[in-house]
Amino acid sequence: MVVMKFGGTSVADAEAIRRLVSLVGRQDRGCIVVVSALARVTDGLLQIAGLAGSGAADEASGAVDSMKARHLEVAAVVSDARRRSALAHELTDEFSTLQSVVSALGVLRDVTPRVLDAVAAVGELLSSRLVCAALQDAGLSAVWIDARRAIVTNGDHTRALPLMAETKERLRLELAGHLAGGHIPVLGGFVGATRDGATTTLGRGGSDYSAGIIGAALEADEIQIWTDVDGILTADPRVIPSARPVPRLSFDEASELAYFGAKVLHPSTVQPAIERNIPVRILNSRRPEAPGTLITVSSAPSDRQLMAIACKRDVTAIDITSTRMLMAYGFLARVFEVFARFQTAVDVVTTSEVSVSVTIDNRSEIDGILAALGEFADVSCQPDMALLCAVGQHLRTDPTLVARLVGTLEGIGLSMVSQAASRRNITFVLRQADLPAAMQRLHDRFFGDEAREPSAACE
Ligand code: ASP
Ligand code: MG
Repeated sequence: MVVMKFGGTSVADAEAIRRLVSLVGRQDRGCIVVVSALARVTDGLLQIAGLAGSGAADEASGAVDSMKARHLEVAAVVSDARRRSALAHELTDEFSTLQSVVSALGVLRDVTPRVLDAVAAVGELLSSRLVCAALQDAGLSAVWIDARRAIVTNGDHTRALPLMAETKERLRLELAGHLAGGHIPVLGGFVGATRDGATTTLGRGGSDYSAGIIGAALEADEIQIWTDVDGILTADPRVIPSARPVPRLSFDEASELAYFGAKVLHPSTVQPAIERNIPVRILNSRRPEAPGTLITVSSAPSDRQLMAIACKRDVTAIDITSTRMLMAYGFLARVFEVFARFQTAVDVVTTSEVSVSVTIDNRSEIDGILAALGEFADVSCQPDMALLCAVGQHLRTDPTLVARLVGTLEGIGLSMVSQAASRRNITFVLRQADLPAAMQRLHDRFFGDEAREPSAACE
C-alpha cells in the first residue's frame, strides 16, 4: 500500500486536481490519498481569523465568501451533475459553519489557539471532499475519511503531536476495511482531533506529517510526497542554474539539508515512517515521469563524492575570547547559558584553547547577548556572514575529500570550519559576499558535468 500526499499546488485548481486524479488512477497498488488545502487557503483562513478577531468582521466575512466562490468554481472539475451538486452542498455546509465561527470571533474578539485550529482545519476538510468527489467522478472507488476521526493528538493547539498508539488503532478502524475492499481512503492532512474531539492541527506544513503518521501506522510500502518541483534540488537554482534533483538521500543527509532551507520537505515530518524503514519519495505532479528524490533510512552505496551542497545566508559570527578560559572548566557552559537565556539557537561552533566562535541566524537579541558575554570575555561580532555546507557519506571514509574541498575554495577567506564526529557534513563560515563564487566553485568541481549526479541546495 502506498500513501500519496498532494501538497497545496497539486490541488490548487481544477487542472491540478485532474492531474491528481490521473496519478491516483495509474497507481497499481492499494493507496491512501492525503491532501493539503488548496494553495494559499491556510494563509487565507488564518488571515480571516485575525481580521474577525480584530473587529473587521465584514472584511472577514467577505474573504470567506470569496474563498467559497473559489472552491465552488474548482468543484466544476466534477462532471456528473448530481455528484457535483452533492459536493457543492458539502462545501456550502463547511462554509456556513466557518461563517458562524467568524461571526462569533467578531463578537468575542478573542482568537484562542483552539479556535484558530477549528478555522485552519477547514482548508483540508474542503480540499479532501473536493478531491474525493473528483476521484469518484473518474470512476475510482474513493471514500472520504474525516481526519478528525483518524488522527488523535494531544491538546497542543496549532502544533499538536499525534498520540501514536491511539492513532494507529483509529486508522486501522477507519481505513483498514476500505483498503481491504479495494477502496481509496481520502483524507485531509494537517488536521486531527484530541481524545475529546476538539479539532487540532499539526503545525504549518503538517500535511507531510500526516502522511508520515499514516504511512508509519499502517506500514505502507512507500510514502509519495507529490509537489511542484522535481525533488530535493542539488542547489538553489537562483545561485546555481544547472542545479538538478538529488536522486537519493539518507534521512540524516536530508535532515542536514533541511536546516539549510531545502524546503521541499522537512524530513522530521516523515521521521515516524523512516524509523520503520518506509521509503519516502518526493515527486513532481506536473512531471510525474521525473524520478524525484528518494529518502531512505540509510544511504545507498554511491560513488558520488558529495550528495549535496547547501548554504544559509544572513548569519552572524561571534568570537568569544578569554584568557581565563585557559585550563578552566565551565567556560563553555557560561557561554551557552547566555545564548539559552536569550533563547537564541547556536548553529556552528568551533573552539580553540582560548576562544570560542559561534554563528547564529536570529539577531533579535544580539545586543543583550554581546553585553552578557562581554561581562566575562572579549567579544567581537561579524554580521553578513554565510554558511556553506557540503553533505555526503564519503566525508566519513575519504580523508582526502576535506582537503580537496578546502583546496577548491583557495583564496576565499574561511572564518570557521566545522565538522562533527558523524562526518556527514562539513560546514564553512565565510563572508556572504564570497558565497556565490564559493558555491559555484564547489559545484563545478564536485557536481559539474564531469562529476556524477551533482547536488546542492541553498536557502
Ligand atoms: N495547509 C497547511 C499549511 O499550509 C498544511 C500543509 O499544506 O501541509 O500549512
Ligand atoms: Mg508543504
